[in-house]
Amino acid sequence: MVDVRGVHKSFGDNEVLRGVDLQVGAGEVVVVLGPSGSGKSTLLRTINHLEKVDRGLVRVDGELIGYRQRGDKLYELREREVLRQRTHIGFVFQNFNLFPHLTVLENVVEAPVSAQGKPVATARAEALRLLARVGLSDKEAAYPRHLSGGQQQRVAIARALALEPKVLLFDEPTSALDPELVGEVLDVIKDLARGGTTMVVVTHEIGFAREVADTVVFMDGGVVVEQGTPAEVLDDPQHPRTRAFLSKVL
Ligand code: ATP
Ligand code: MG
Repeated sequence: MVDVRGVHKSFGDNEVLRGVDLQVGAGEVVVVLGPSGSGKSTLLRTINHLEKVDRGLVRVDGELIGYRQRGDKLYELREREVLRQRTHIGFVFQNFNLFPHLTVLENVVEAPVSAQGKPVATARAEALRLLARVGLSDKEAAYPRHLSGGQQQRVAIARALALEPKVLLFDEPTSALDPELVGEVLDVIKDLARGGTTMVVVTHEIGFAREVADTVVFMDGGVVVEQGTPAEVLDDPQHPRTRAFLSKVL
């Protein structure tokens, strides 16, 4: 479903991604771990072309992201095309990023109507179903500022799901939350995993990785140092950098 090949990305002379490969099968959950600055967020952002890669290719469901290939040449897609591609790639941020002036329901309805041209009645019905799925049926008329962080993040997940994405990307979805609110958000993500949603989750929640991940990827210094099943990477890490990282977070 997601195929990242040989991706390089620099900011000035800081090479942040140094040849990253990542494959995520349909219905698979990949958890990405790694120290601060290792390039995890940048990697996620290259998947939906929020960051342009310097070298390498990203495909989602077989479609080249950000470019069109003709012969052996790549042509950059127009902004409109990139926006269309992004509607198939859900992104959930650390800080929720809800529209503050819209109600919960309006937040979920907005993109399907404006970006996908869905009829409002259809989008509303789907939004209500999604809000029920994330346990927020009673909050449809509330504004984000009246919700807890955990509730806001669950709205953000419902909003991402409303576009029926092929893959959902999570960038530390619980790290801005008070500890007692982390569980309710992780439970929603676990429920999606059981339902077969394809996901890439950057997180420091090792317990979650152990329980939910099909594959755990450890990044450091802009490369994938090690990857495998949770048991392989978390219980029997082969690389000293993985061991050093895990000894700090476990
Ligand atoms: P964290 O765990 O702290 O979120 P991370 O693994 O997500 O870290 P990135 O955010 O991908 O790391 O950042 C990797 C490196 O790229 C850092 O050195 C960061 O300063 C740099 N970087 C990221 N985005 C930009 C940008 N837009 N401009 C310049 N440098 C950037
Ligand atoms: Mg980050």
